[in-house]
Amino acid sequence: MSIVIRGGHSTSCNGASATNIGGLDETTETHILCPLTINHLKRAGEEVIDGTPPTGNWSQNTDLKYGTDKANNNHAKLFVPEHFNKAYNSYNGAIGSEIWINPKNAEAVVIGTRILNNLEALGFRNRGLKDGMNEHHLHDIRSCVGTAVLVEVCFCEASEDIKLYRRVGADAVAKAISDGIVGRISSMSNPIVLTPISTSPVSVVSTQMYRLRKSWAEGGSQLVATATLSADMKAMCDKNAGYEVYNAIGQQVYPTGVVAKATVVPATRNNNSVAQLQAELNVQGFGPIAVDGFYGPKTLDACPMVKEGATGNITKWLQKRLAMNLQDGIFGSGTKAAVFAYQKAIGEKTVGRADGIVGRLTWAALLR
Ligand SMILES: [Zn+2]
Repeated sequence: MSIVIRGGHSTSCNGASATNIGGLDETTETHILCPLTINHLKRAGEEVIDGTPPTGNWSQNTDLKYGTDKANNNHAKLFVPEHFNKAYNSYNGAIGSEIWINPKNAEAVVIGTRILNNLEALGFRNRGLKDGMNEHHLHDIRSCVGTAVLVEVCFCEASEDIKLYRRVGADAVAKAISDGIVGRISSMSNPIVLTPISTSPVSVVSTQMYRLRKSWAEGGSQLVATATLSADMKAMCDKNAGYEVYNAIGQQVYPTGVVAKATVVPATRNNNSVAQLQAELNVQGFGPIAVDGFYGPKTLDACPMVKEGATGNITKWLQKRLAMNLQDGIFGSGTKAAVFAYQKAIGEKTVGRADGIVGRLTWAALLR
């Protein structure tokens, strides 16, 4: 079974471009990145098909359909379109990498998480997994019969993304993507086993270790590891809010019936996740909303207006998101100034008036 890799858009369809400010051009970069990714995958023993439309006269629709047809007609085990993002005319700073998937496809979650972690290891800000079925109705995710993982490497117009991409080079990015696909984590020596997360009971083998952690990826948060999923372990989990029990391959096994944080949002060292915000919105009575790590209209609706005088974990989340030095959960003049600066930086067209108040438009920008 083959893997189909696609490099952004054909030359007759416009991809993202920020060459006017010395930034990246999506079509140019993806047409370099795609063959490099294919090389790495072939070296890893994979059968690969290029799903990039050749030079020709493509409309937006036929251009997109070319890739999903390649994947579907070849019964590909995986379809990976590679893209570069753009949100502003210009942006001073880092925005980072994101990956679009169908969140109900466990394999897509696993592969997407690994690719994101590898890109983060190169230095890109990890924006997490995004729901391509829901919010943006992405053709590549919706029309692909098999597993699809759409990679947005970084933002064409973000000064730090541009610098970083040029410094590490296309081949390192291609390797990060290829390693994520075949199951290696670039920064780790041991390969991680690719096992789709199943909701059926996990069979217990004698060497099974159960770990009580905040998320699978946050090994440092581990409180205890045991050979069996004992009543004591479950009781300890119940007592520690935000903790879950994971088995040896990172499947959340307790509590059951809850979406595993680790597999939905790659909880990595830098990640200030949407799942954390969603959990806090529920705690504070703005929900109930699903704690699934995916930002959509329901999460946005639940976000309250936050301004000077507010205190608590939502303010703390904002302070982390704005990369403030003091993250004390107190919305004082410093936080107000940081919000104001952020609003100015991303533009009043996007957030309405820059006023230091986190209202709906500012939330939408912060969560994007
Ligand atoms: Zn694109």
